Amino acid sequence: FRHGEPTEVVVKTLKGPVRFGQNHPVVVVAGPCSVENEAMIVETALAVKATGAKFLRGGAYKPRTSPYAFQGHGDSALELLAIAREVTGLGIITEVMDTADIEKIAEVADVIQIGTRNMQNFSLLKKVGTTGKPILLKRGLSATIEEWLMAAEYILATGNPNVILCERGIRSFDQKYTRNVLDISAIPVLRSLTHLPIMVDPSHATGKSEFVRPMVMAAIASGADSVMIEVHPDPAKALSDGPQSLTLEEFESIMQEIAQFAQFF
Ligand code: PEP
Ligand code: MN
Repeated sequence: FRHGEPTEVVVKTLKGPVRFGQNHPVVVVAGPCSVENEAMIVETALAVKATGAKFLRGGAYKPRTSPYAFQGHGDSALELLAIAREVTGLGIITEVMDTADIEKIAEVADVIQIGTRNMQNFSLLKKVGTTGKPILLKRGLSATIEEWLMAAEYILATGNPNVILCERGIRSFDQKYTRNVLDISAIPVLRSLTHLPIMVDPSHATGKSEFVRPMVMAAIASGADSVMIEVHPDPAKALSDGPQSLTLEEFESIMQEIAQFAQFF
């Protein structure tokens, strides 16, 4: 793995640069699983911005287990993300699944996300790398840390140094109570192996909104540079991942706690 490269990723957003890395405050990324309509994405964006989030997340193209489940609104959702970006100035993070969509996603996304299911989609990694955009690389469902770092190398090898690693939970033998198992130890392990910034996504890791808060705190205490949290104005009605989504009020209270807590780490 490469050493001596920048230890921070600087993302240029409409409102100026946001820095991910060890010497910067914890960057909070929040938003719904899927971009559902203009009202909900703008409402969510305004609310998370007001409490200190720097990025809005939201899927336009969704990698769903079932082909009959909601697949995301696609291109029209990108337009809604562009509106939310204009209104709030928040950075935008959204997932790419298909090389054919890279260009239009790069127009609205400040960071392009590679989801867990595509961590080793090497042709996709090579192509997103060449956009020059910062890339958020989620850990594969059952990927070892070495496989994950080598996937990151595919992007770095295109000449794009701006990769953020996101631990989002891995498969284990007991998935009755949580959706995945958050590998908290991955944070210090990565820190010892790579200069790349580390994000943690407790929402997809736990799959349950009531477990998100303690895992956010554990991630920050363990040295995470950033956290990604799913938030929805009405989780019960969400088109995807409602059970793990926080209400806007719950998110606000976690943000207050983070502000107090993060200063100790
Ligand atoms: C997401 O963040 O929208 C997502 C689908 O997450 P993951 O790839 O980690 O399952
Ligand atoms: Mn989701």
